[in-house]
Amino acid sequence: CGVFGIFGHEQAAQLSYYGLYALQHRGQESAGIAVIDGHTMHSHRGMGLVTEVFSGDRLQTLPGYAAVGHVRYSTTGESSIRNAQPLVFDFRQGNIALAHNGNLVNARQIRDILEHQGSIFQSTSDTEVVAHLIARGMYKTISENVRESMSMLKGAYAFVILTDHELIAMRDPQGLRPMALGQLDGAYVVASETCAFDTIGATFIRDIEPGEMLIIDDQGLHEQRFSESSRKALCTFEYIYFARPDSDIDGFNVHMVRKQLGKLLAHESPVEADVVIGVPDSSISAAIGYAEEAHLPYEIGLIKNKYSGRTFIQPSQELRSLGVRLKLSAVKKIVAGKRVVMVDDSLVRGTTSARLVSLLREAGATEVHVRISSPPVRHSCFYGIDTSAREELIASKQTIAEIQAFIGADSLAYMEEATMLSAFGVKANEKHGFCNACFTGMYPTEIYPSSKTMLEE
Ligand code: 5GP
Ligand code: SF4
Ligand code: MG
Repeated sequence: CGVFGIFGHEQAAQLSYYGLYALQHRGQESAGIAVIDGHTMHSHRGMGLVTEVFSGDRLQTLPGYAAVGHVRYSTTGESSIRNAQPLVFDFRQGNIALAHNGNLVNARQIRDILEHQGSIFQSTSDTEVVAHLIARGMYKTISENVRESMSMLKGAYAFVILTDHELIAMRDPQGLRPMALGQLDGAYVVASETCAFDTIGATFIRDIEPGEMLIIDDQGLHEQRFSESSRKALCTFEYIYFARPDSDIDGFNVHMVRKQLGKLLAHESPVEADVVIGVPDSSISAAIGYAEEAHLPYEIGLIKNKYSGRTFIQPSQELRSLGVRLKLSAVKKIVAGKRVVMVDDSLVRGTTSARLVSLLREAGATEVHVRISSPPVRHSCFYGIDTSAREELIASKQTIAEIQAFIGADSLAYMEEATMLSAFGVKANEKHGFCNACFTGMYPTEIYPSSKTMLEE
């Protein structure tokens, strides 16, 4: 998911809309914005893309000087309007709008306790648990209750919360999900990725720290910690695949990291070939790096239909395979008669790769060598990136040779974990700086048997 927040700007809804538009790659199932105008909280949510949800005059119904927004893709809870965010509710302390990126691993446990005590839930999303915790808080101010609630949560979260008079932003103690702070015309903005700042013309100030809580109100910015960060564990998949190449996360530009991964991959797994191609869009940077390091021409060998979403957003396996066909086509002139290196950022289920290898062969490629700029994904992610149930992860049950046969490639190589970490330079040695759990199985938080599927009925 993607989150956005702004405080102190009369165009709050409009700017949130553009910010969310820039974050659209982080979720395409639903979108929503909530605003405050000093008297009332207004909100609108809907299924679909940002432009669909806020078509026509919709934004005019959202007057205000502060706003939070969300784009969603579901990892827990079904894809439906009930689970769309921001979650808006009012209770004895006022109005609250809550938008969440990430996945809470102990939401099921907390929900069980709350339900036992009589709470009634309206959605299946893990985020509603947080709303209940805040509403039950014993402190005098909402922000204190927010802070107290966060201490009960485990897992990945970047939250933006709007109250009647303040914007609160917080990032989980491990910093699994990214979030940054910026400024525009004297107003503060927060967003999952810095590409949202560039889009609206805001200036980047800094990344929000793991375990940090920012409160922004009429008096300005108040910086607090709600947790000592014991272990920083930023998701490596944000760099590998999820984030936009023009974003900078915790000091690293996403494109530069990907390109470096490509170079390291070329070094680690070279192959005799004529041309290097990438799988659009997320692998282009790595393919450029690979070609540069291998002294091979980089070419556009696959074209992506710009009007299709990300394949994994499709809920079922059948739709997913059809999705790949609708989405990508080979450029015959480029690949015919050539030995092709196809660089992809990740290989999760193998469906995309298998389909692409056969597309390239149909287009006349004489050899197809697949190079993956990340290690084999063998473990499920419980932190909000949909790397599938364990059974669907091809590398969790097949050897590299078997996967190569399955996708029909002439050769296949993944990247070593240590090599991947070395793409981050000096931080490579501080292994604790990143989460690599889907590659290693070493999760940076406790996990529970129900962590993934917890709220699915
Ligand atoms: P596969 O070959 O495993 O079917 O798909 C891998 C390709 O799809 C990569 O290009 C990757 O960018 C993208 N992809 C598809 N589904 C997912 C997913 O659930 N998680 C991640 N991280 N990447 C995915
Ligand atoms: Fe990211 Fe993988 Fe960790 Fe999930 S398990 S947060 S995808 S690195
Ligand atoms: Mg891809």
